[in-house]
Amino acid sequence: SSGNEVGDEGEQAPPELDTSVPHSARMYDWWIGGKDNFAADRELGERFAQAIPSIPAMARENRNFMHRVVRYLAGQAGIRQFLDIGTGIPTSPNVHEIAQGIAADSRVVYVDNDPLVLTHARALMVSDPAGRTAYIDADFTQPHKILRNPQLRAVLDLDQPVGLLMIAVLMLARDSDDPWTAVRTLMDELPSGSYLAITHPGQDFDPAAMEAVVRAATASGMTLAPRQRADVRRFFADWELVDPGVVPVMTWYPDGPSPADPHAAYYWAGLARKP
Ligand code: SAH
Repeated sequence: SSGNEVGDEGEQAPPELDTSVPHSARMYDWWIGGKDNFAADRELGERFAQAIPSIPAMARENRNFMHRVVRYLAGQAGIRQFLDIGTGIPTSPNVHEIAQGIAADSRVVYVDNDPLVLTHARALMVSDPAGRTAYIDADFTQPHKILRNPQLRAVLDLDQPVGLLMIAVLMLARDSDDPWTAVRTLMDELPSGSYLAITHPGQDFDPAAMEAVVRAATASGMTLAPRQRADVRRFFADWELVDPGVVPVMTWYPDGPSPADPHAAYYWAGLARKP
């Protein structure tokens, strides 16, 4: 993690922060080498790693995909507005650092529902003066609350294309929460030329190991729903998939094949464009 930390300045106590319960944002922070995690997060993180020892490397591969897809969107695709839902604890480079490094006037709205991410939100707001950033504390299963948020409307012009990022977040909603409809509601609000990028832990790489991880999560009260490729594909609905389609995350390179073992990270990844 990086940047200004609101809590350190004593201006804002973390709301509803229960460090005795493991949390996805803090486990992920631990896997990718951050410091914003607690014993309960590391204990469940270790239990996941007993079933899938390379899970920290997989989380870093997931983060690397975010870097590649934002470079692609800000570069080749000319996207200047981003909506990053389930942004996670700030970890440099964050979306705005990558996008504004390519186009300084890029605007980014960050969304997360974890109180610890909220305490770090100011670190996400250090925008290039030519661009803008904002942070919204909201849940993607209530998409209308995100879309109607005045801060979103102040930063994003929904008549211009938006890059919607849902990177390693959809598995935190169970099927009964219908994340497909939630994503569709967000997609419907965006104009032609917008993009949707998703990564999602796959059920179909090593089903037995993934089931062990889900059991550990469930025993700790955490929702975790890895999904099969076809169910991840369904999130993109009728939008046009950018090559190479919905593929193992380590092989998602828009400019050619990856050098890596495609099945070394158990995440599906894809990017699609609204016609
Ligand atoms: N997108 C980042 C972080 C992934 S960790 C990356 O890939 O590097 C998943 C994040 O999603 C966590 O910060 C968690 O707090 C957040 N999250 C989980 N459920 C959510 C929900 N229903 N709505 C919004 N954010 C959510």
